[in-house]
Amino acid sequence: MSELDRDGGCLCGSVRFTAHLRSPTFGACHCGMCRKFAGGPFLAIGTAGVDWHQDADLRTYDSSAWAERGFCGRCGSSLFYRIKGNGMTIVAFGALDDPRGLTLAREVFIDERPDAYCFAGDLKGLTGAELMAKAGG
Ligand SMILES: [Zn+2]
Ligand SMILES: [Zn+2]
Repeated sequence: MSELDRDGGCLCGSVRFTAHLRSPTFGACHCGMCRKFAGGPFLAIGTAGVDWHQDADLRTYDSSAWAERGFCGRCGSSLFYRIKGNGMTIVAFGALDDPRGLTLAREVFIDERPDAYCFAGDLKGLTGAELMAKAGG
């Protein structure tokens, strides 16, 4: 396994995967949909692909015209966000077995962050509109 390959899975252990991370940095999304999906800010890390070792209980939810979200149908753990068009998969940071060596570097939809909390540190932040402009609409 390379340094950027990380094993992960859901709470009950039914869904297991190896994520091939693009970089050791990850982001937080404060949008209202992610908040519902993850039960708080969605901490997630970009991948160049995911190998699913056990996925019989893996379920997806069509959350928008362009993306779907994955979760365990048995224990309910939030597992990923995936762009339908290109299959790009962003896995839940919390699903990784070993989070050591990874750094929170950016946050998006900062305009939707509840004022009840905020992350410390010097993070790059984008509003929802800035993110959409960057993603090309
Ligand atoms: Zn599970
Ligand atoms: Zn979001």
